[in-house]
Amino acid sequence: MRRISIFGATGSVGESTYDLILRAGGAEAFQTVALTGGRNTARLADMALALRAEVAVTAHDDCLPDLAARLAGSGIAVAAGPAAVAEAASRPADWVMSAIVGAAGLVPGMQALKTGATLALANKESLVTAGQLLLSTAARHGATILPVDSEHSAIFQALIGEDMSAVERIILTASGGALRDWPMERLASATVTEALAHPNWAMGPRITIDSASMFNKALEVIETREFFGVAPAQIEVIIHPESIVHSMVAFHDGGVIAHLGAPDMRHPIGFALNWPARAALPVARLDLARLGSLTFRAPDLRRWPALRLAGEVMAVRGLAGAAFNAAKEIALDRFIAGQLGFMAMAGVVEDTLARLSAETRLGNAASGLEDVLAMDHLARIRAAEAADNRAGG
Ligand code: NDP
Repeated sequence: MRRISIFGATGSVGESTYDLILRAGGAEAFQTVALTGGRNTARLADMALALRAEVAVTAHDDCLPDLAARLAGSGIAVAAGPAAVAEAASRPADWVMSAIVGAAGLVPGMQALKTGATLALANKESLVTAGQLLLSTAARHGATILPVDSEHSAIFQALIGEDMSAVERIILTASGGALRDWPMERLASATVTEALAHPNWAMGPRITIDSASMFNKALEVIETREFFGVAPAQIEVIIHPESIVHSMVAFHDGGVIAHLGAPDMRHPIGFALNWPARAALPVARLDLARLGSLTFRAPDLRRWPALRLAGEVMAVRGLAGAAFNAAKEIALDRFIAGQLGFMAMAGVVEDTLARLSAETRLGNAASGLEDVLAMDHLARIRAAEAADNRAGG
């Protein structure tokens, strides 16, 4: 029986993964090693019982009593805290879904790779903060990383059987998020509720707001650079409001291979679950005649400064990705808390990168995870200061 674990099981990607596991036979077809969640202990306990998991872990110590009470007498082990999440990731499994949101997903993903597992990677922050470490760890331990972001799954699928030397460009599509068609002058006053109204995708709240600001696409551009090893100049972003073309690969002979499908994360998750085979998936089928047309346009970098910042981060590389992601997470926290304007998020990230490049060697390659975590920590402090300055100024 295939041994699986789901990190971030109670989230949007986690729920879709759980749905596919249940449809594929649940506890009769898979041996579930670990399921982890955050504050939603009720859901985590339900999932653990249904899949007869070996261990259920909450990221928060104060949630442990509730989780333990829900699973009392079930024979399922319980634990709490980041160290317990990492320990759960070091338990051998064949297939591991990495779907924790934010930099908190990095350590468990790395642990899973050290066991030689196949890591289905939704947590793009891992590649942005520690891309080279992640890939070298996978290579050293004979582990496999499969991208789960719909764009990167699309690119991965378009590249099957292709030689990377034949690739001219990778074209990432972007819906543009909830505020895509707003007049520029209104963006500064956009609220959390407005930024959460994504036109096509149902996702967790943080990535949905990041879609509106395009910080999500900025992370994906860096993820593309790290995972597929292409030069920054070979990566292009194009606005595609319908979210039907999930991304494209352009080859030197002028041909372009696009991956199309309904906007449903169960496709890329299911692809990673069944890879290298393909299995039937419960996603809506495309009716192109009914869709009629698909549209594309170039992104406006004044509207989405995050895209410009991604270019700067890739030019510096080294620890800049870790700094960028941490600063973005703090700016997003402040926006969600109502302490920072929508457009000021990019300002906070930019101020943080400028400050860090003056006081540290941002371009230095990480020699280990400690360097990445130290930069993540420092960038959070500097970003909080930058946010205070902007809020006070
Ligand atoms: P959600 O916010 O829906 O879920 C996040 C999961 O992580 C939940 O299980 C949550 O637990 C848990 N969690 C939150 N904070 C912590 C922490 N500090 N330590 C450990 N676990 C934590 O996120 P999404 O599912 O939307 O996104 C997950 C990842 O996948 C992100 O990296 C995102 O960028 C990526 N992704 C998501 C897509 C989507 O469609 N949603 C598409 C492509 C990529 P709880 O809810 O119980 O508190």
